[in-house]
Amino acid sequence: MNSLVSIASYSNSLQANIVKGRLLAENIPATLANEQYINADWLLSNALGGVQIQVPAEYEQQARELIESIDNGQFDVSDDNKIDQLLCPVCQSEDIQSNNIFWKTSFIVTNTLHIPLPFSQHAYSCKQCQHEWSEENDKAYSIGTILFYIVMLTVIFSAIIDGLFLLRGFL
Ligand SMILES: [Zn+2]
Repeated sequence: MNSLVSIASYSNSLQANIVKGRLLAENIPATLANEQYINADWLLSNALGGVQIQVPAEYEQQARELIESIDNGQFDVSDDNKIDQLLCPVCQSEDIQSNNIFWKTSFIVTNTLHIPLPFSQHAYSCKQCQHEWSEENDKAYSIGTILFYIVMLTVIFSAIIDGLFLLRGFL
């Protein structure tokens, strides 16, 4: 009878299933242990030692080598296949960074007023020539969005003012 060997463990079944799929693609009959327990209650993951990938003992070596090559990035999408590599429009350099100009505002507003402001990375700067630009067709704040938030803020502030008047009436 074949005994199963645990060769890796992951904190959730999503990661484990991705690796299991890679093993199956290489004709290694992998199975998962604890998957359903941990799906039912994620807090059990640590207690059970994670979702474990198990293979028959005779496949252990092959499976361990495959997982090592996954960890080493052998199956990562290569740079050639990456789409939408942005280039600096001035010097064509790939060495650019996106500037999250709204995230701090968004963070503060979300945490103080509980209004989730959308923010997106749409501003870029080139590390080579210091050129800064933004994507014209990808404005994070359209007129409609700005109007929406102005109306929302007006409603909230008027509610607060109403509340203050109400409070004053009681005092
Ligand atoms: Zn540049």
